[in-house]
Amino acid sequence: MSAIINSTQDAVLVTTLKNETILLNPAAQELLQLNGQPIQGQPISELTFNEELLKLLSPKSPSSGEVPFPDGRTMWATVVEIPEVGRVMVLRDISAFKALDKMKRDFVAAFTHDLRTPLATVKGYIELVRMDGPVTARQEEDLDGMTRAANLMKSLIEDLLELSRLERLEELTRENVDLETVVQTSISAIKPFAQSKKIDLVLNETRSGLIVEGNGVLLSRAVGNLIDNAIKYTQAGGKIHIKLGQNNNHQATIAVVDNGPGIAIKDLPRVFEKFFRARPELDDIPGTGLGLAIVKTIAEQHGGQVWVESQPNVGSTFTISLPLANGQ
Ligand code: ADP
Repeated sequence: MSAIINSTQDAVLVTTLKNETILLNPAAQELLQLNGQPIQGQPISELTFNEELLKLLSPKSPSSGEVPFPDGRTMWATVVEIPEVGRVMVLRDISAFKALDKMKRDFVAAFTHDLRTPLATVKGYIELVRMDGPVTARQEEDLDGMTRAANLMKSLIEDLLELSRLERLEELTRENVDLETVVQTSISAIKPFAQSKKIDLVLNETRSGLIVEGNGVLLSRAVGNLIDNAIKYTQAGGKIHIKLGQNNNHQATIAVVDNGPGIAIKDLPRVFEKFFRARPELDDIPGTGLGLAIVKTIAEQHGGQVWVESQPNVGSTFTISLPLANGQ
């Protein structure tokens, strides 16, 4: 066992339940820049000041997470508690994955950004052809098809740029945001779309004074995306209810309830994935498959969550939960 633990490339730290050192393999000693095996029983907090690492070793903390090190490496740490023995932490170097991920995001951001100009040119030329007319009815149909395709490409580029901006955002600029204002802003921005489809859009449960710490523009975008989907996928004449409230975990909840087509059980776990579109072959509703990925990223950046409950032919309810600002 000792030979296995000592020869593994992963750093292994074993401590008592009070976080006193029992064993550190050579990879862990190298990672913490120690000269040899520390003294048995020495508190781990005397061996490292790495806050993320110490946080993961504290009771009730999550059992895994990323730990950055001053030398630039990022480790993925997993902690297991063994009753009557202590804690075992294994740290695996994920720096290469992180670098690759960053490269991919930078590439997507740069690439999509550069696509904007030629696409604007294409749209400009479509208009010029119309203006140079006269065009036949058949040519007008073709131009309409080109405009639709160019508009879809434009939404795809904008959504991708927004998502990559959000993913690269290290820290949100935070201020106290009143959720009632957020919801009302989203509703009034999207009301004309609902009216054009004769859909009844109502805020039928609300609470004032629900304050979260975050970015109001992004939160409005998240709520707006949910309402936009509800309108998009619900048949004309449908009903959409928005409910703002609070749950037992001191979290605010915003629910968007529609009586649209619902989502098949097999698709439910995937709707928040990037580019996933349920039943794209059945409907000709335009979309990029990125709207819910954006909602999820915004909710998580605010320490919250988003989930969906749905029944085919009955409707869908998308709910965002957000931790309330301190003192509530
Ligand atoms: P998009 O709407 O651009 O396709 P989204 O990420 O916003 O992308 O949504 C992913 C998929 O989830 C949609 O393609 C649709 O199939 C399904 N979906 C989202 N909202 C609803 C809704 N309110 N009712 C039914 N299906 C929905």
